[in-house]
Amino acid sequence: MSMADQYVGAPPAPQGFLGRPLWHQGDLLRWGLVVGVALVMCIVGWYLASEDATMGKQIGPANLAVGGLIVAGVGHVSWLLSGRRAVGERRRVLLGEPAAATVSVSEDVDVTREMSVPGGADDLIAGEGLRYYHRADCTLAGSRDWPSAGRGEMEAAGRQPCGVCRP
Ligand SMILES: [Zn+2]
Repeated sequence: MSMADQYVGAPPAPQGFLGRPLWHQGDLLRWGLVVGVALVMCIVGWYLASEDATMGKQIGPANLAVGGLIVAGVGHVSWLLSGRRAVGERRRVLLGEPAAATVSVSEDVDVTREMSVPGGADDLIAGEGLRYYHRADCTLAGSRDWPSAGRGEMEAAGRQPCGVCRP
């Protein structure tokens, strides 16, 4: 058993990918621009409305300020969504969705075995001395020749269900 087998709970990730921030400079720049425009709209609205106490003359500036708030909201949502997209990308890399998988353990999964496993209780597998147990088709288990056992046996051995295949 190699040293790497001891860390099966944490799937191998391409180095460098996870060290990158969720947002890039372009995202920050776009957010700054949008929020800056929104701020200017609010300030101009406030400035125009503050010159005159007449109700009728304050509607336009108030609309401008409300528009500024909406623009700021759009900027924030777009910022959050670009971060959310980055999380989705990492998730695909880590959990290895078949088409986009770059994690090497998913390459040699036996297709016939994958198809024949509906997730029955007796199809759980785990390596000797390891902390987590898996479904036989789990990408983290790969093509390792681990012995299978029932859930009761796994739990009696003090193992926990894998967080990826959720047996
Ligand atoms: Zn698993």
